[in-house]
This record gives sequence, structure tokens and C-alpha cells, in this order.
Amino acid sequence: MKKKAYILVIIGLVTLVVAGFLYVKKVEAPVNNSQPTTENLQQATSNLQPITDNNKNAANNSQKQETVDPLDNALSRITKKPFGIYVNPGNSPVNPERFTGYHSAVDLEATTEEQNINVPVRIFCDGKLLAARNASGYGGVAVQSCTLDDQSVTVVYGHINLKSMNVKVGDVLQAGDFLANLGAGFSNETDGERKHLHLGIHKGSDINILGYVQSKNELSAWIDPTKYLD
Ligand SMILES: [Zn+2]
Repeated sequence: MKKKAYILVIIGLVTLVVAGFLYVKKVEAPVNNSQPTTENLQQATSNLQPITDNNKNAANNSQKQETVDPLDNALSRITKKPFGIYVNPGNSPVNPERFTGYHSAVDLEATTEEQNINVPVRIFCDGKLLAARNASGYGGVAVQSCTLDDQSVTVVYGHINLKSMNVKVGDVLQAGDFLANLGAGFSNETDGERKHLHLGIHKGSDINILGYVQSKNELSAWIDPTKYLD
């Protein structure tokens, strides 16, 4: 009988130990369950990654959107004078040529169909109109201030018809606004030049309407507008 009681006590103890063990397991279980929760958080965090990338793309897109091509299909219009081309009366793609130097802008050509109709020039970027006047070599020319890639610049629009303008110096313009019509070819509006838009971007906030510069060093004060054109 004593032996039986002894066995019962051992069985009781074993049962307690096993029960205790199971209990501890059960308590640990929620701790283990918290693991996937952390993983979920990590997953949630990694899910944020593509969103961040999208935001970056959105930022790039908005940077692209902060400028508007002054004329449709702007890049395809650069057929005669790209940025930085060195011209003189002997080698120029334009004949006759009266200028000599590095072209500090791009020339956006009017098409054959556009020769005898109004060709609206749109504002390239947000900013204040700083000048609009006649100047030798241009006929009508307008200059506005802008910020491109966090950099202050001035934008030069050459060979425009000043009389067609309905904005004035001091106005703050939005990209895409109507600036003026292109000046008529071989008239006072273009100072005798063919119908085209001379589009220059000068670094800094000072007005500079030089269409040609005499050294590469001077050229470095200008930005190639093709960077912002479609
Ligand atoms: Zn030009």
C-alpha cells in the first residue's frame, strides 16, 4: 500500500511538471505570436518603400511639369541653331548670318505652315516678367525670372511680337500662360531675322540678353534649355 501511494505521488508530481511545462508553453505562445507581428511591421515598412519611390517619381514629374514648352514639339524645332553652336558669317546654318560667337540659347523654328499665322509663345516657367522691349538683333524680346532646380535664372524670349502681349513688366506669370505671338519673319518684330523663337536661360537673376558669347567661359553662364524641353 505504501508503495502504491508513493507511485501515486510520483504520478501526481509528473502530472504537475507536465502541466506546468504546458502552461509555460502556452504563456510563451503569445510571445511567439508577437514575432509575426514584428514581421508584419517590417513588411508594412517595406511596403512603404515603393510608395517612397513613387513619391520620388512624383517629385521628378513635378520638376518636369514646372516648365512648359514655349512652342509645341520644341525639341524637334531645333534644326538650325542648338545651344552652344559656334557660328560666324562663313559657317552658319543660317544665310545670311550677321552674328559671330557661341549661341547662348536654342532656336525653335517656325514650320512652313506657321509662316503666315499667329504662333503663340507660352511662358516657360513660373516667374515675374522683368523686361519686354525692342533690342538690336531681336526685334521684340522679353525676359522673365524663374527658379529651375532651386537655381535662380532668367529666361530670354527673342523675336516676339511685343504688340500681341497682354501681360506687362512686373506681372507674375505661370508656366503655360500666353506671352506673345512670334514676330513675323524678316520684319521689325524679328529685327529682320526669320520667324523663330530664340530661347535662352541665363544663370542668376540679372537681365542678360546676349544671344552670342565670345568664349566657352562666358557660355558657362547659360543653361542648355533642351534639358527642360520635350
Ligand atoms: Zn538664337
